[in-house]
Amino acid sequence: MKIQGIEYEELAQEFGTPLYVYDADVLTGAITGLRDVLHPALEVFYSLKANPNISVFDVLREGGARAEVSSLVELRTALAAGAPPSDIIFLGPGKSERELAACLDAGVHAIVCESFDELDDIERLAGERGVRQRVLLRINPERTIGGSRLTMGGKPRQFGIDEAQVLSAGDLAKKYRYADVAGIHVYLGTRILDAAVVGANTRYILDLADRVAHSTGIRLDTVDIGGGLGVAYFDGEADLDPADVAAQVNPLLEAFTADHPGTRLIMEAGRYLAGRAGVYVMAVRYVKESMGERFAIADGGTHHHMAAVGIGSFVKRNFPAVLLSRRGDDGGAGEPQPWNVTGPLCTPNDSVLKRAALPALERGDLIGITCSGAYGPSASPGLFLSHGYPAEVLVSGGRAFLVRRRDEPDDLTRPQQLHRAPAADRPRDRTPAV
Ligand SMILES: *Cc1c(COP(=O)(O)O)cnc(C)c1O
Repeated sequence: MKIQGIEYEELAQEFGTPLYVYDADVLTGAITGLRDVLHPALEVFYSLKANPNISVFDVLREGGARAEVSSLVELRTALAAGAPPSDIIFLGPGKSERELAACLDAGVHAIVCESFDELDDIERLAGERGVRQRVLLRINPERTIGGSRLTMGGKPRQFGIDEAQVLSAGDLAKKYRYADVAGIHVYLGTRILDAAVVGANTRYILDLADRVAHSTGIRLDTVDIGGGLGVAYFDGEADLDPADVAAQVNPLLEAFTADHPGTRLIMEAGRYLAGRAGVYVMAVRYVKESMGERFAIADGGTHHHMAAVGIGSFVKRNFPAVLLSRRGDDGGAGEPQPWNVTGPLCTPNDSVLKRAALPALERGDLIGITCSGAYGPSASPGLFLSHGYPAEVLVSGGRAFLVRRRDEPDDLTRPQQLHRAPAADRPRDRTPAV
């Protein structure tokens, strides 16, 4: 199989395996496909959490995505890719003082504030700098709306401030001098595959924005309606059609902008933008049978692709997988058989595919786990058994670019220190024997 005319086998030869491969055309198609149909007042912010690679973000940024970041490194990544601070928001329940200071110094569009304690810190740090910083209050909504795989509302949460607490907080516009509370943020869940749910969430959030503005006196400079658009991973699931999402949210946004001209409207999307653009490529190392089942033991595993273990379900459902190339060149023919594809970790949980239908596998064959562009290496325990993180390659304009080099043993051993050796005589400074 090929990506933009390049054989996966060629990529494996050049960059080694295991390997993540991202298709820039798919990234671009995802962002432009959304932007083309969504209300023009709605800006799409890419959640770097889904895939924080700078080149992945850069492709999305070229396609018109802004940046939603949740750590100092994600902030630096967005800035380094050329996102203007006015197109960056920072959120997360436990921001450090260093992160808040970095936001203030960079002048990000908004800090999404998740507690009154944090609001006090923003007030103090902004005051020390003599700057006013736009702040959006993240609200933990009173109720939840079904249809997402991980609901956020209607429950005690570390995220945001309870709706009732915000509504009874008094005059927030006057209370703070440097923290310019000027909007709200709500995130109601992830992996939503039903456009009507996105519509219901949006309706709830826009209505809540008005209620908050009314009871706290804040301006609605920016309203962030969250997102959580899903991609289809498993049998029986279907991808969201952007046109269906647009049909749901555009009329609501049209009515809101008529009442609030000039309010900046934000939708966040991580998985939806990056998910379908990535393939995790593994080579089969050994093939064997155990108690009547076939095993292909690959060089990659769940330390790079934790999501493949199974998300939100007790019965393992396989990620979509394909045979990308085979060493013996019989073209991959043959009836599909059930294969267990496992990795190098010393745990039975290191199961990437369970009884997945694949052609007869042989040593050296390349297996691709598709739909793997989001929540891949950065959401996986890459240090387990000290294997380290894989290389990542972006294919753009028919060319392959290494966008993250593979961890080498030194990358993992160097930060460690032997507790009993004097500083000047640390074994790490000696040349390793292997
Ligand atoms: C994780 C997260 C996102 C991105 O979620 P996806 O489902 O990947 O789109 C967006 N907003 C917030 C607040 C998040 O925590």
